[in-house]
Amino acid sequence: MSALFPALAAPSARPALRCGPDALTYEELARAAGALAVRIGGAGRVAVWATPTAHTAVAVVGALLAGVPAVPLNPRTGERELAHILDDSRPTAVLTGAGDVLPAGLDGLPRIVVDLTASGPPVAETAGAESPALIVYTSGTTGPPKGVLLSRRAVAASLDALAEAWSWTADDILVHALPLFHVHGLILGILGPLRRGGAVRHLGAFSVEGVARELGDGGTMLFGVPTMYHRLADALAGDTGLAGALAGARLLVSGSAALPVHDHERIAAATGRTVVERYGMTETLMNTSVVPGGEPRPGTVGPPLAGVDLRLVDEDGSVLKELDGETVGEVQVRGPNLFSGYLNRPDATAAAFDGDWFRTGDMAVREADGAVRLVGRKATDLIKSGGYKIGAGEIENALLDHPGVREAAVTGEPDPDLGERIVAWVVPEDKDRPPTAEELADHVARLLAPHKRPRVVRRLDALPRNDMGKILKKALTAGS
Ligand code: ATP
Ligand code: MG
Repeated sequence: MSALFPALAAPSARPALRCGPDALTYEELARAAGALAVRIGGAGRVAVWATPTAHTAVAVVGALLAGVPAVPLNPRTGERELAHILDDSRPTAVLTGAGDVLPAGLDGLPRIVVDLTASGPPVAETAGAESPALIVYTSGTTGPPKGVLLSRRAVAASLDALAEAWSWTADDILVHALPLFHVHGLILGILGPLRRGGAVRHLGAFSVEGVARELGDGGTMLFGVPTMYHRLADALAGDTGLAGALAGARLLVSGSAALPVHDHERIAAATGRTVVERYGMTETLMNTSVVPGGEPRPGTVGPPLAGVDLRLVDEDGSVLKELDGETVGEVQVRGPNLFSGYLNRPDATAAAFDGDWFRTGDMAVREADGAVRLVGRKATDLIKSGGYKIGAGEIENALLDHPGVREAAVTGEPDPDLGERIVAWVVPEDKDRPPTAEELADHVARLLAPHKRPRVVRRLDALPRNDMGKILKKALTAGS
């Protein structure tokens, strides 16, 4: 297939990448990644110690140039999960930055230190479209992380569909503060700008000031997860500099988890801008996106992207035709953006497909215009109570709408009478003056419907979340 990175085939002095203290032009990136590609050429598979640095970006680009599959590792992964990933993916070396201190679990692996100033020859990409480009582990929200085989074809298809949807070009400068071991931070946030020939500036770690500074200094796009937008929304009260910076951006994108409607509204009120929500998974890369510049659609993730076929299927396996915003089904997708299978898990791969349709495990309804509104995950977010099927998401949104609620999650637990009862887990805005359970239940019933009333309200100091800010519902219910 044609190159993943045309801008590296004819490198220029345009900025490609800035991460913390390190900045590389396309020429410098082509040389450093080219040198690395020569060093690792022929390796079976390489792990990448994926710190939020330029080293990680160069390591992954070098591996892609060499046609060597890369396995990004979360540097904060615990011993047991790291052992599982290494045992499952069996890399032959680990690529790191110079000063990185690696855990004992990586002792047995040869270490290759990425040199940002190395000067290799230009390397032409020769790997085929279906060859594995990356093995990315899922977030482990619902079980042990699975290794997802992503081909060059899938990466290119998904990035190009986003480019079309977002009018993403070489003139864009992405402001980025996400981890680099998942699809969102690595594929969209690093490979995305580089495929377009544009630039990315990584903040190293998220800060409200960093986002304001970079968007105020030429950044055109921001990619974030809901916890980041929540913090930006908090900071917007009274900070006109931040409001101006966000208003000046061409595109604010949120993904990886649902952005609460309340945060959408706070940001829109302070900046006049609508955050564009998109929906994807490790296995499918990106599936849908809200259309920028169209009607603001808080709570929906928009229509399918170009090339993506999407359908909703009910429990009996019938394809739903309703565009009524009410009939819930599982999202299934097919298209060139799909993964090639789970590593070493033919059983899980087979179970995940219905013919060529991938079962996402996410439940949704479709609005009249075809926009998808996710209501939650089949495994954890669909509560069957009193004969109703209730999505956790809309109850969470309703709770977050209450001024006394800072964070909220909703789960179901067995109930002799209702089948399952609705449980609300709430972090109050003010610990000393939490809203009462009754007040919250009434609030939800008034906004939504009486049968969506939480029967139990549990108070917490914080919700358990992973690196992407996703709420770990298994951890919530395991302790109760
Ligand atoms: P695991 O598969 O290991 O349990 P995971 O599903 O969280 O973990 P990812 O592939 O990183 O791992 O996440 C994909 C999931 O994230 C989707 O299936 C969906 O549930 C959720 N998601 C992604 N984008 C959005 C969004 N915009 N709104 C709501 N949920 C989203
Ligand atoms: Mg998943």
